[in-house]
Amino acid sequence: MRTFREIYEDREKEWLSPYACLSINSKGRLYPEEQDPYRTCFQRDRDRIIHSKAFRRLKRKTQVFLAPVGDHYRTRLTHTLEVVQIARSIARALRLNEDLTEAIALGHDLGHTPFGHAGERVLNKLSPNGFNHAQQSLKVVDILETRQGRKGLNLTYEVREGISHHSQGKHYILRGETPKENFCLEGLVVSISDVIAYITHDADDAIRANLIRIKDLPRNPVKILGKSPSEQINTMVRGVIEGSQGNMIQILPEIRNAMNELRDFLFEKIYPSEQIAKEIIKAERVVSELYQHFVKFPPDEIANKDFGDPNDTIEQKVVDFIAGMTDEYALTLYQKLFLPSPWQI
Ligand code: MG
Repeated sequence: MRTFREIYEDREKEWLSPYACLSINSKGRLYPEEQDPYRTCFQRDRDRIIHSKAFRRLKRKTQVFLAPVGDHYRTRLTHTLEVVQIARSIARALRLNEDLTEAIALGHDLGHTPFGHAGERVLNKLSPNGFNHAQQSLKVVDILETRQGRKGLNLTYEVREGISHHSQGKHYILRGETPKENFCLEGLVVSISDVIAYITHDADDAIRANLIRIKDLPRNPVKILGKSPSEQINTMVRGVIEGSQGNMIQILPEIRNAMNELRDFLFEKIYPSEQIAKEIIKAERVVSELYQHFVKFPPDEIANKDFGDPNDTIEQKVVDFIAGMTDEYALTLYQKLFLPSPWQI
């Protein structure tokens, strides 16, 4: 008897676009596994990512505002979920593989350091091998996470490729160009959905944080995209669905220009703003001092032979250890290591 998965795979063949990545055509996993009777390979990858520890840690990692006390600010986890939802809406309407899109989106930021891009910059400067969060996301799913006593989640080639390239495709799409590399369309959808999510919610959080008022937002993008986050997301999602054709993911030019303008505004006015920058300097110091300390005195976590890639240098293991930390974990550790504790008795 045919399994439910096989029937589902046939439905993909009938329903999805000729440019979609079918699960039956996956290039497979590093270590071959038996297929599941109910779930396609991409559905299994999605489940593995959701059940990983790295995924749960996203809830305490910075998006823009460091370890925010306010309950309504985005964190890496809520950012990830917003990207997932946007990407699925686009993939479904373009008849791309929604499960593959979802798995890539869920995994795309797993390699983010504590304190957002500030942490990434410091590790990139200090580490002899450099640091890039997309490559780190791939290392998380390939090596750093463990599953059933084995290193890595053993994901499919397509999900791994989508995760490691997630930050490259967007630049082409935002310029209205076609990528030179042969990216899968599901990965490109995640790449542009990441931008749609962060330009909307970072502007919204900046208003929440009193960094700007709604009337400070540049006029043209607000006119084209809308005022509220929901209107903005809606317009941009529509812009991608209606701008894409055949094997090209594009955005309607008017909407694309408005997105670029809003994005430029965030990079010029919000991210470098004094209130954020002064906390970032402190966060950079925390990451940098933790790094220097652990290279000299490797902690038990790293000394354990099960940690990371056994062929890596101590420096690289320290990078992997720090990159995995949440904001709170890094701050508590810093306090414990470098600040005197008050006498308790
Ligand atoms: Mg992201």
